[in-house]
Amino acid sequence: MVARKPKFCGWGYEGDGLTPDEHEMVLQRYADHFDVAGFEQLIEPPTPDQVNLHNARVEPPAKLSGFCSTADMDRLSHTYGKSFPDYVRIYAKDFTNAPDIVAYAKSEDDIDAVLDWATGANIAVIPFGGGSSVVGGVEPAVGGAFAGTLSLDLTGLDQILEIDKTSRAARMQGGIRCPDIEDGLRPQGLTMRHFPQSFDLATLGGMIATRSGGHYATVYTHIDDFVESTRMMTPAGTMESRRLPGSGAGPSPDRMAIGSEGSLGIITEAWVRLQDRPSHRRSTAINFDKFEHAVEAVRQLTQSGLFPTNVRLLDRREALLNGAGNGEHDVVVLGFESADHPVDPWMDRGLGIARELGGAYDEDASKAEDSNTSGAAGAWRNAFIKMPHFRDALISAAVIDDTFETAITWDQLHGFLENVSAATEQAIRDVTGRPGIVSCRFTHAYPDGAAPYFSFKAKGRHGALLEQWTEIKKRSADAVIAHGGTITHHHAVGRDHMPWYTQQRPEVFGLALQGAKDKLDPAGILNPGVIVPLSN
Ligand SMILES: Cc1cc2nc3c(=O)[nH]c(=O)nc-3n(C[C@H](O)[C@H](O)[C@H](O)COP(=O)(O)OP(=O)(O)OC[C@H]3O[C@@H](n4cnc5c(N)ncnc54)[C@H](O)[C@@H]3O)c2cc1C
Repeated sequence: MVARKPKFCGWGYEGDGLTPDEHEMVLQRYADHFDVAGFEQLIEPPTPDQVNLHNARVEPPAKLSGFCSTADMDRLSHTYGKSFPDYVRIYAKDFTNAPDIVAYAKSEDDIDAVLDWATGANIAVIPFGGGSSVVGGVEPAVGGAFAGTLSLDLTGLDQILEIDKTSRAARMQGGIRCPDIEDGLRPQGLTMRHFPQSFDLATLGGMIATRSGGHYATVYTHIDDFVESTRMMTPAGTMESRRLPGSGAGPSPDRMAIGSEGSLGIITEAWVRLQDRPSHRRSTAINFDKFEHAVEAVRQLTQSGLFPTNVRLLDRREALLNGAGNGEHDVVVLGFESADHPVDPWMDRGLGIARELGGAYDEDASKAEDSNTSGAAGAWRNAFIKMPHFRDALISAAVIDDTFETAITWDQLHGFLENVSAATEQAIRDVTGRPGIVSCRFTHAYPDGAAPYFSFKAKGRHGALLEQWTEIKKRSADAVIAHGGTITHHHAVGRDHMPWYTQQRPEVFGLALQGAKDKLDPAGILNPGVIVPLSN
């Protein structure tokens, strides 16, 4: 089988993406929203040969040369993740922070050799999984204190090593991508059932390192819930936790690895909890005339003890933009799944809660066998899969297109949403001189609160997109922190969120993290500037 190549510029793999008609449809949709006839200047994505890349500052030593590269294409494809500002700089052919070396590790011995050499040679090591970071997590922007940078590509560690069907768990390598996880488990009737929107590219180690959140909105959705044990290599040695279903033995070593974003070590393996593949499903979309009622329905559903698989609120703009509504209603997508029993009674009670709050839905569609993939719920699912490709079209037309996600308790939710939306809308007006589009959905919901996910679009200007985006991002992030939210619910901290992460986390906890970093990575070579601030 020929390995698929991730795109140099854009989402997914070469050959994936929008059809010309879809591309045209996306541009027309936003031209309509911005009330313009069309976009006058469409810019083509660059090709690698158009980039003027600086020479590598260091060469790998002989003992690493078998799996390291300094070839331009390898360095270019490991410079960025997949965020909007990453795309802007790719379009501008700005590869100032390209790594000097890319190491394609295939074993722990390779990683050991890299860490050993890099520690002695003062080389910053940036772990690189699927490269789907949207927060600057994989960009070797490490300041001037290092002799060079090395991007450590982990996708060669891509095996499922063991499956324990009795305990329903599997031991897997850190570089395995989500589709390969599911393909490997399917024949056993098992699934990890963790489906981030970046499913095509993301790796197990990257998801654990970033505390990723899956497509399902409630209960088992965070990678944290699936991790049974971890194995993490650090310059100070390897930290492997014991496989346990639960433990009260002090602070959890897994909790230290989960969310460490490559700043403390390389996650080379993990045992993850699995589930039987669900065979009973019901899903439906419920329309609400009032946003407050839709929010109240989500709150009651998450507090009802029904444990829906999905209860995802789309505000009317979000529903319209993604083909899940006509823009006149806020939509709650409600779903139940089980591998064990029919879920109709749960769905019926869930719909009862929605009905009491004025929710309207198509009774027949909600009972259909394919209710998961048809109707408005299906439209939402399809849009969710296609969405990452929209940015490829929009950036060519200088549309600023980004999202940010957060979480807040129910008691503060309404004021929070108003303030954050208003700050973002005002920033767009100030920066671009015209209104933009700010929409919101809840990607995840909990008994004590929700995870609002904001999307914003603005008609920007080629040549000024980075500055325009930076100002909007800053003002929206300031509002999130000022009004009590978290700077990230599942996209992670990376380099982009560090200014707000350091405001959010307790100062003393920052000291504890610094202490851990100093012990595990005394030379400070691991993903410098992420989670623990740069010291230079
Ligand atoms: C279109 C799109 C949709 C997305 N949807 C979601 C979503 O639904 N849910 C979600 O949670 N996130 C989402 N993301 C963000 C991103 O996909 C996640 O953060 C993902 O978990 C990153 O995995 P990765 O393998 O691509 O990691 P990378 O992007 O390669 O790396 C992410 C961070 O982890 C570190 N790292 C990577 N591998 C390891 C390792 N083995 N050991 C130690 N550190 C490591 C890197 O240094 C970096 O700091 C989305 C991104 C895009 C572009």
